[in-house]
Amino acid sequence: MNGRLFVISAPSGTGKTTLLRQVMTGIAGLAFSVSHTTRLPRDGERDGIDYHFVSRQEFLEMRDRGSFLEWAFVHDNFYGTSLQEVHGRLGQGLDVILDIDVQGAAVVRRSAALEASHIFIIPPGLQELERRLRGRGTESEEKLRTRLQNARKEMEAARDYQYLIVNDVLDEAAEVLRAIILAERAKAHRLPDGNPIMLRLDR
Ligand code: ADP
Ligand code: 5GP
Repeated sequence: MNGRLFVISAPSGTGKTTLLRQVMTGIAGLAFSVSHTTRLPRDGERDGIDYHFVSRQEFLEMRDRGSFLEWAFVHDNFYGTSLQEVHGRLGQGLDVILDIDVQGAAVVRRSAALEASHIFIIPPGLQELERRLRGRGTESEEKLRTRLQNARKEMEAARDYQYLIVNDVLDEAAEVLRAIILAERAKAHRLPDGNPIMLRLDR
C-alpha cells in the first residue's frame, strides 16, 4: 500500500524543524525526506540525517540526471528532494514529510502524479520571527537579512496551502500538526471511488 505525502513549508525561523521533531517521534509510520543541499552544515547537523550535504557540482549533476522530484534555489543555496528516496519510502507504505520551500511546494502541487497534503506554518509575527532567527544564532547578519526579506514573499504563498498553523505556543502548534496528519490519514481509508472502507461483516 502506498503512503501519503505531506508538504510542509514555513518562513525560515518559524520553528518548522522544532515542530517536526516533536510531532514525528509520536506518530508511527512517518518518514522525513532528507533533502540534498549545497548549504554548509550548521553546528549539530548530521550528513544523511538532517540533509545530504553536497557540493554545487554534485547537486547540479544530480539535477541534470533528473534525480530530483523537485528542486529550488532558496536563500542563495540549492535544495532538492530525491525521487528515489521518496518513492522508496512511499512504496514501503510510509507517509513522507517533505520539508520544502514555497517554490518546491508549487512544483508538487502542479504535478498530477503527486497527491499531497499542503501545510503552511507561520510565526505569530515578523518581529518574533526575527527574534527566533537571531536566537538560533546560525546565520550571519547578511544571511539573516536575506531570510527575513524572503519571509515576506513566502507568507504570500500561504493562501495556496490547505492548512495553516500559527506556531505561537509550541505544544499547541504541535497538537494541531499532529491532528492534521491523523485526519489526513483517516481520509485515506477510502476506496478509489471515494466510498469509505467498510467493516467486513462476514469475519
Ligand atoms: P525553522 O526550521 O522553521 O527554520 P527552527 O525549528 O530552527 O526553525 O526554530 C527557530 C528557533 O525558534 C529555534 O531557536 C527554536 O528553538 C525556536 N522556536 C521554535 N518554535 C518556537 C516557539 N513556538 N516559541 C518560541 N521559540 C520557538
Ligand atoms: P534551511 O537552510 O533553513 O535548512 O532551509 C531553508 C529552506 O529550504 C526552508 O524553507 C526549507 O523548507 C527549504 N528546503 C529544504 N529542503 C528542500 C528541498 O528539498 N526542496 C526545496 N524546494 N526546499 C527545501
